[in-house]
Amino acid sequence: MAPGPAGRTPVFERRTTGGGSVEKVVALTFDADMTADQGPRAASGERFDNPDLVAALRRLKVPSTVFMTGRWAEEYPAQAKAIGADPLFEVANHSYSHHAFSSPCYGLPVVGKTAMARDVERAFTAFRKAGVRNVVPYFRFPGGCYDDKALSALAPANVTAVQWDVVSGDAFATDADAVAEQVLDGVRPGSLVVMHCTRSAAPATEAAVRRIVPELRERGYRFVKVSELMDDRP
Ligand SMILES: [Zn+2]
Repeated sequence: MAPGPAGRTPVFERRTTGGGSVEKVVALTFDADMTADQGPRAASGERFDNPDLVAALRRLKVPSTVFMTGRWAEEYPAQAKAIGADPLFEVANHSYSHHAFSSPCYGLPVVGKTAMARDVERAFTAFRKAGVRNVVPYFRFPGGCYDDKALSALAPANVTAVQWDVVSGDAFATDADAVAEQVLDGVRPGSLVVMHCTRSAAPATEAAVRRIVPELRERGYRFVKVSELMDDRP
């Protein structure tokens, strides 16, 4: 992508046209959320990973992009490494702390402007430590929350911010069919869907994916990673 104006982080905003010459591709993206202060919860048994989801994506052969927090890679280094070693996936950055880059943002604690680029770089460092390969320079703002100040503060991190056009609604959902229907209703050629890779906050995602994938293929869609969607930009 072209650099953003005046030293700002560029933002990849998916705006689909719903047809025309756009190829029937769709990118499923999965946020591997874990907040910097959730270590004690993980220690007491809460699961922020979702191995069954990753296994389902492999079984169904769905190329996809995982936006991983640095804290998640620290908690689950073997899984982080395995995801990064699999050519089916690419690993992008979802910050180290999963704190907010603008406020208010779903009650998340806020990262100071001077600490923003460092927080993103700290996630890349955590990926390297875990031996994660297939890392791409894309960044998803926690909660999707950002403003012009955040885009300027993040410029030194040299990432492209990635937003989405389809909200799956999988966060805290327990009804997989409702999640699947929301995605199936929302997808247009070129769509970018946001979902989650954490049993703790998104327990229905794997079941939803098992329904979404065959139905979209039936409609003629091909699954791609975010990097391929970007290549296709007019
Ligand atoms: Zn997140």
